[in-house]
Amino acid sequence: MAYITLNKKHFFHNLDIITNQTKSKDKIALVLKDNAYGHGLLEIAFMAKEYGIKKAVVRCEVEAQMVKGYFDTILVLAHIPQKADAKISYTINDITTIKEFPKHTKVQLKVDTGMNRNGIEMDEMEEAFVQIALYELSLEAVFTHHSSADEFSDTFTMQKQNFHKVKQHARVLAQKYKMQELAFHSCNSAALFRTEDFDEDMARIGIGAYGCLVMPQEFDIPPLKPVLSLYANKLSTRVLQEDECVGYSATYQAKSVCCVSNYDVGYADGFMRSCSNHYVTPEGVDIAGRISMDNSSFLSDAEELLIFNDAKEVAKFADTIAYEVLTSLKNYITRKIV
Ligand SMILES: *Cc1c(COP(=O)(O)O)cnc(C)c1O
Repeated sequence: MAYITLNKKHFFHNLDIITNQTKSKDKIALVLKDNAYGHGLLEIAFMAKEYGIKKAVVRCEVEAQMVKGYFDTILVLAHIPQKADAKISYTINDITTIKEFPKHTKVQLKVDTGMNRNGIEMDEMEEAFVQIALYELSLEAVFTHHSSADEFSDTFTMQKQNFHKVKQHARVLAQKYKMQELAFHSCNSAALFRTEDFDEDMARIGIGAYGCLVMPQEFDIPPLKPVLSLYANKLSTRVLQEDECVGYSATYQAKSVCCVSNYDVGYADGFMRSCSNHYVTPEGVDIAGRISMDNSSFLSDAEELLIFNDAKEVAKFADTIAYEVLTSLKNYITRKIV
């Protein structure tokens, strides 16, 4: 069976670099949404705890419950719970939903500073504070999300300036409505590495910890190392004569006599079909023809084949981003920490 390895040394190396930037492990909120970017939720939670990470960010309640034992606090990005939980805080993504949170729920207010996706409008802040007080929710933090931190764009600067205003306003409102002192956070991986003197209360770090952050060279990001590798095993092997073809629609044709084997990873497992016909493994092995649902053919007769050890490279072949390559990997694939 195809399997995934998770390189603990690389993961810790990345966390060291990130800690250097946040100046404290305690300020890293590790983003574990979507099966920890395909790495395996529990495997990454386990290693993060060993490293000393105390905060996690997840997408939904199911993920939060699964990793509750590993962290001190968890932020859920998109869920309105049935009851409050001492360890879990929930995101307010829209002002109309504030009334739906149960009394005493820990909440964090997401403010839209220019991405125009989720979060309340900047001019809805006071109304949001009024409602949070009225429905007796426990507001812990105010945060925002950047749309363009990983590229040259004025939007990044504009959102930073907007969030600066949001912070000032939120501090005033917290006093006015007699709330606890608020925490603030705005950085994803890319934004953190573009911040010289990080002074927020935490940073929400996903792709950087997994070693697959891509940014223009000019930003001079320290060398992060990919954590995840995908391997496949041989199902069968054969010798092709000149002009014989391989796979669906016979898109690969042998130029001369060669050996081709079929390996047990396909697009159903998350090996993206758009890599068909032109993918080359990190060891220089060429793909032969189209990727099938459960398998794919390569010009090799090795028993076991390294399919990839850097999702950023696969992303280039598949014309997508490392995030999609990683989160496409199905959760039934065995993950081994090495
Ligand atoms: C996914 C996500 C992150 C993590 O972003 P990376 O680019 O992977 O570091 C941070 N914040 C929010 C709100 C997210 O949805």
